[in-house]
This record gives sequence, C-alpha cells and structure tokens, in this order.
Amino acid sequence: MQENNGQMLKTGMLRGFNGRCPHCGRGRLFARFLKVTDRCSECGEEFHHHRADDFPPYLVIIAVGHFFVPFVFYVQAEAWLPLWAIFALSLPLTIGLSLVLLQPTKGAVVAMQWHLGMHGFSGRKGLHGERA
Ligand SMILES: [Zn+2]
Repeated sequence: MQENNGQMLKTGMLRGFNGRCPHCGRGRLFARFLKVTDRCSECGEEFHHHRADDFPPYLVIIAVGHFFVPFVFYVQAEAWLPLWAIFALSLPLTIGLSLVLLQPTKGAVVAMQWHLGMHGFSGRKGLHGERA
C-alpha cells in the first residue's frame, strides 16, 4: 500500500528523531552526539550535505522555554519554593532537558530536509525508492 507524502514525512522524521537513517530506518544517523554520519552504514544514503545549522537548537529553546517558564512562574506565584531553590532546580533541569532533546531534534530536522529534498538532498530517492 502506497503511503501518502505526509505519512512518509512523519515516518522519516520519526526515524531521524530516534537517531536512525530516515531512508531505511536501520542505520545510525549520528556518528557522535551531534555529528551526523556522512552516509548510512546500511543503505548508503548520504547525509554529509545536510544543513540543519541552528534550527534544532532554536526548536529546543522554544520547547524547553514553553515548558519551564510557565512552571517557574507558577511555582514562584504559589510560593512553593524559595527563589534560590527554584534556580537550583530549574537550571540543571533546563540544561539537562535541552541536551536530551538536542540530538533527536537535529535528527528530525535532517530527516525533514532529506524528505523535502532540501540543499544537497535534491537528487535523492524517497522512502520507497521513487524520485523526490
Ligand atoms: Zn539507511
């Protein structure tokens, strides 16, 4: 059964989010923490020409900020904790959550670029081998 384009984008981005090749879903997308591998070890798909740049950190800042800023305001308004305790808790949580989300977000962005044929991905094959 042929998947529609939106479903193929979702599948590829989910594979990228999980650190897997958006094309085959088996090979690893990252060589190191934020270093995208040049090509998939399983299917040979090339990723060296991705241009994720600063987009993943922007997305992580938006996601983490939308979670922590209301939390800090709420805790401070309800006076559950003193200010020093709010800083002592929120700073490591903010940094930790940002680090946890950064690689999956970058994987999803690279997979989105791959699916949409952006930058050097313009001549690639799609999820099922058809031209993008
Ligand atoms: Zn692959």
